[in-house]
Amino acid sequence: MLVVMSQQATPEQIDAVVAAIEAKGCVARPIPGGERVAIGILYNKGPMDPGYFLGLPGVKDAIPVTRPYKLVSREFQPKGTTIQVSDVRIGNGYLALIAGPCAVESEKQALTIARIVRKAGAGLYRGGAFKPRTSPYSFQGLGEEGLRILARVRDETGLPIVTEALDHEVFDLVEEYADVVQIGARNMQNYSLLRRAGRSKKPVLLKRGLSATIEEWLMAAEYILEGGNTQVILCERGVRSFADHNRNILDVSAVAVVCKESHLPVIVDPSHAAGRRDQVIPLSRAAVAVGAHGLMVEVHHAPEQALSDGAQSLYPEQFEMLSRQMNSTAEVFQPKVTMVGREA
Ligand code: PEP
Ligand code: MN
Repeated sequence: MLVVMSQQATPEQIDAVVAAIEAKGCVARPIPGGERVAIGILYNKGPMDPGYFLGLPGVKDAIPVTRPYKLVSREFQPKGTTIQVSDVRIGNGYLALIAGPCAVESEKQALTIARIVRKAGAGLYRGGAFKPRTSPYSFQGLGEEGLRILARVRDETGLPIVTEALDHEVFDLVEEYADVVQIGARNMQNYSLLRRAGRSKKPVLLKRGLSATIEEWLMAAEYILEGGNTQVILCERGVRSFADHNRNILDVSAVAVVCKESHLPVIVDPSHAAGRRDQVIPLSRAAVAVGAHGLMVEVHHAPEQALSDGAQSLYPEQFEMLSRQMNSTAEVFQPKVTMVGREA
């Protein structure tokens, strides 16, 4: 249930509603934004009677919330959320381009790619220091050294860093270095990691699980918001299918649904969806056309030598093309957005 206060409601009337909610054994959560205060009710055991709240002074409306996810839903917060990372904004009118290698391999590699993607218009830099690899024999990332390299890349280029916290144990460390902490597809339902992310002050990029429904994905985001961190960016990265023409199927319909269901920004990772570079640019156009709030793309200056995901990494000139096409697609399908990270 969402209790909407009238515009003239006094602080005392708001406090009285909070007390009435708590008297029922529930938790009251005021919702930010908008001209009037709305108070969400969490932890109710069953449906609540709107009449109970409608009778209280200053209450304009009491709206039952039909979805199992609450804090992430548009029912709770109709206005889209914008996440600010340094001077870059994502969501609700701001389109973000995140690019970089799959993994940080060396300082030279990371910096070379960062300069390329920055010049081509990326607003944030991605790169894994801790890699979730299917095989234990594959390159696992440079660990803390990778994080130190990312920090130097940020100092050098000014690009904020998106990097993955692979587990609860490394979260503190990753959080120290990262501007945005990524939770990978394989960890979408790692509840201790989600709870830890909920206590973080850093924005979290939450990837959709390999076979997660939209409801499961939004419930995973709900864990983070419930923990107190409202800065969540959702990322669709393709789901498992029977197809063998790509690594995963990019679920563009999920983007349309999530935009409707949730106020959180949702971006698309066409690289992990496709698994091959020839599909990355077309899928990026589709993502922007369907309403995604940004893209996260893998780029490498020498993909043949990449230690991970070389086949899906764009060549520098392809990334330049993607950046241009992202902007021209947005001009047609999202004409009100502000593109970030573009060279003036
Ligand atoms: C990544 O973005 O580096 C990654 C491993 O992606 P995913 O979790 O979507 O597989
Ligand atoms: Mn990768």
